[in-house]
Amino acid sequence: MPDPSFTDRAPIEGRSTSRLRASLQRELNELADQDLRRSFRRVERREGARILVDGRPAVDFSSNDYLGLAGHPEIVRAVQAALKLDALGAGASRNLSGNHPRHEALEERLARWKGAEASLLFTSGYAANVGTIPALAGTGSVVYSDALNHASIIDGCRLSRAEVRIFPHLDLTALADMLERDRGAFDRRIIVVVGVYSMDGALFPLGRLVPIAREHGAWIYVDDAHGTGVLGESGAGSAEHWGVASEIDITLGTLGKALGVSGAFVAGPRVLRELLLNRARSSLFTTAPPSAIAAGASAAVEIARAESWRRERLRENADRLAAGLAELGLVPMGEPAGHIVPVVLGDARSTMEVSRHLLDRGYLVGGIRPPTVPAGAARLRISLSAAHTPGEIAGLLAVLGDLLPKLPLPGRTATPPASASLAGTRSA
Ligand code: PMP
Repeated sequence: MPDPSFTDRAPIEGRSTSRLRASLQRELNELADQDLRRSFRRVERREGARILVDGRPAVDFSSNDYLGLAGHPEIVRAVQAALKLDALGAGASRNLSGNHPRHEALEERLARWKGAEASLLFTSGYAANVGTIPALAGTGSVVYSDALNHASIIDGCRLSRAEVRIFPHLDLTALADMLERDRGAFDRRIIVVVGVYSMDGALFPLGRLVPIAREHGAWIYVDDAHGTGVLGESGAGSAEHWGVASEIDITLGTLGKALGVSGAFVAGPRVLRELLLNRARSSLFTTAPPSAIAAGASAAVEIARAESWRRERLRENADRLAAGLAELGLVPMGEPAGHIVPVVLGDARSTMEVSRHLLDRGYLVGGIRPPTVPAGAARLRISLSAAHTPGEIAGLLAVLGDLLPKLPLPGRTATPPASASLAGTRSA
């Protein structure tokens, strides 16, 4: 029994804590004044796309569980079976006593899926980027990074000692110009892009990137957090979709999105894995993920590869949503359908208001505001899952239709994803 006098002790409030409180409160107030203060919702239960959020039932259009695997019984069973044999906690980093054969089995499976020699697990995609980029790019290196790359890539670049050049979103001409200007100036050149941009749904045109990178002797690093499991015939991701799997030097995939579990990996040549386990600080100095999670992720990879109907269903859902949004005038007719659909509303306040209205009607759709997206580009981010039913998509469209007069749409059109395309996977 815990000592009640200890557990019930009132929080200490000294002079320094009151200064701390006042200072932090001021900062929070500033965020609130700009409609940028965030707080957590409580999601107590999740079954497919159905959730219980703050005590109310809703359909989740905000998660990255694209294949509907998050609660898959075989994945859960794999985790439970592993827990019967081992402790939950790995207890140490992998270079001490935290490495388990299940981690290595998962790494081999992931590498085979991606068509790479080897891979290394990380506890999250965030950790993978902030560990890998500085490990590869030190003094004398240059990183070319797309302007809309994820925060974890930006932070990885900041932590590296490399020169960092930001090129405009998806702009290969600007990138080629930068590479040309830097010819001969750096020992290592690394181009870092995202396979599927999480806030606008755009696909990076990897097929066109490859010859540019080759011409300039630059390595290609693709963060495929949102393409892994979703794109390509076997779900191996963006590189498979574009038919350039053998041309991508370094790929990051996440295990917590389409695969429905948790964690991430970086795949590439075997020497990359060896280098990263020596140099990536977010691997070296952190506790290994539970081996049961690795067991669950291994099961998830097999299901994601084998059950291609999940990708089909996601594509059908994307087509259905795109057609409905076009009818409402929220995306242009004929816009290729992607699994991440932005509806740009502009200012943060209206976006969050619309998001609240949607939740009141039973649909959780993320409102995305700065710093996640640039100021003035706040948006609803509708993300789809194979777990969504046609009825749920129709329901969301009906509520959006009802809210239409209230939507502060600039010219009543939403910015389309530049090249978002699940449709394209059909011909890939
Ligand atoms: N990269 C990209 C492009 C992402 O969108 C995200 C997550 N939103 C991450 C990395 C981080 O992955 P994780 O959630 O596993 O930390």
